[in-house]
Amino acid sequence: MSERRVRVRFAPSPTGPLHMGGVRTALFNYLFARKHGGDFLLRIEDTDQTRYVPGAEQYIIEALRWCGLNYDEGVDIGGPCAPYRQSDRKELYHKYAMQLIDSGHAYYAFDTPEELEKKREEWQNLKLDVQQYNAVTRGELKNSLTLSAQETQQLLDSGMHYVVRFKMPEDENIVVNDIIRGEITVHSTQVDDKVLYKSDGMPTYHLANVVDDYLMNISHVIRGEEWLPSLPLHVMLYRAFDWLAVMPQFAHLPLLLKPEGKGKLSKRDGDKMGFPVFPLEWKDPFSGEVSSGYREKGYFQEAFVNLLALLGWNPGTEQEIFSMDELINAFDLDKVGKSGSKFDPEKAKWFNQQYLRMKSDEELSQMFLPIVQQRTVIASMQMVRSVVPLVKERAQFVHEMWEQTSFFFDAPAGYEEKAVKKTWKENSVAHLQFVKEMIESEPDMAAAHFEPRVKDAITENGFGMGAVLNALRLALVGELKGPHLFDIMRIIGKENTLARINKAIAYMSQMQTHTS
Ligand code: GLU
Repeated sequence: MSERRVRVRFAPSPTGPLHMGGVRTALFNYLFARKHGGDFLLRIEDTDQTRYVPGAEQYIIEALRWCGLNYDEGVDIGGPCAPYRQSDRKELYHKYAMQLIDSGHAYYAFDTPEELEKKREEWQNLKLDVQQYNAVTRGELKNSLTLSAQETQQLLDSGMHYVVRFKMPEDENIVVNDIIRGEITVHSTQVDDKVLYKSDGMPTYHLANVVDDYLMNISHVIRGEEWLPSLPLHVMLYRAFDWLAVMPQFAHLPLLLKPEGKGKLSKRDGDKMGFPVFPLEWKDPFSGEVSSGYREKGYFQEAFVNLLALLGWNPGTEQEIFSMDELINAFDLDKVGKSGSKFDPEKAKWFNQQYLRMKSDEELSQMFLPIVQQRTVIASMQMVRSVVPLVKERAQFVHEMWEQTSFFFDAPAGYEEKAVKKTWKENSVAHLQFVKEMIESEPDMAAAHFEPRVKDAITENGFGMGAVLNALRLALVGELKGPHLFDIMRIIGKENTLARINKAIAYMSQMQTHTS
């Protein structure tokens, strides 16, 4: 038998922004498809109209684009199995629901919510622990199994609301296989008669999902662990349709856990601990609430993809930094673990830092320039290019470089109080005057001799090296921070250096008249 072509799909429901766990599911599907030279599809599962959120589909598309998870077929690009949005495929599912009724694998149920509630109370009073619609209870409920064919037809003709339910076998061990978890056996009484279709013309998730995976010839279903409980039903549906020969293989990915390690990573954890749980920023269309995104927080998409890949998948080596091509090469579902993986926000920043260091100075300068332009009018590319190499090793994000370099662009607006007290003593004015004169008489501050010449002169005059250089640093930076002082002077240039020294001298003189 020739091997089946790999076809996988990412099938999110547009019920809000895509959580980073969802992006990880998309990524694993993508890696698997690319590794095996197969197809990766994007299908939108929007059959539950009550949970539909405007803008969510567009968000999903944009998030996948940003991560570089390009799909071969999908909702906005079409393909041989179009349409890829389930609400646009609505008409198609009715036929399959009817097929199951005709073959005896499903039935009509007419019970109203009130009737069901009443029955539940009865069962409770009788201390029966069955409270579901299932093989034990369906014989007592209002459905096409208990009504005659004629009664059923009358109800259907009268326009009464109905649902189509799957008829679970009464007593059978359902054996399912999961690539990550191995063989799992569930008894049919543990699975209720799930609703597959409703008289408003919409299928439920289960029916639409299975029918579409079949029609789209999906070979592997790779999805989150929360769908594992649905697997027995899905397998039974494949059997009922007589599609077992083309049933996909299943792989349920482990959960992403909170940083403390217990429980599923949620939006609330992110808000509480100050890290994003969404790839892109999201504004809730109903409440207007804004949730932060990795992109807007300054993460490189390569870093985000890299960190997601290692949540649940283990390459089996010490390697942590992977390009997309390397991930495709190394990825294997066999190396995806069963247990949940803890998300570590500090490690996420570390990944970004690694990618920042791998960028060339020129790339970083191009990224940093617009940030500088937003913050100051004095934003020359030449200055940006000079400062980037000085702080590159110390920043985790490009925007952090501004905090570390703002004084190159803007002269200090004031001087940090504590530093002033510590550094500017009575003779500081004289020290700064001295340095100023040296600079004025220096034709080339960038020359190699400049630094030793100034330092020698300080020593010869018996000034303390630290006293002079700290006073000077405070004059130029406004704080006692920053890279090598002579680099600062060289980069801001003679004119700016002198202007800043003059300003500091004026400030100190004023201070002295005030205190004397
Ligand atoms: N629509 C489901 C979701 O929102 C898809 C589950 C699956 O991949 O089968 O996650």
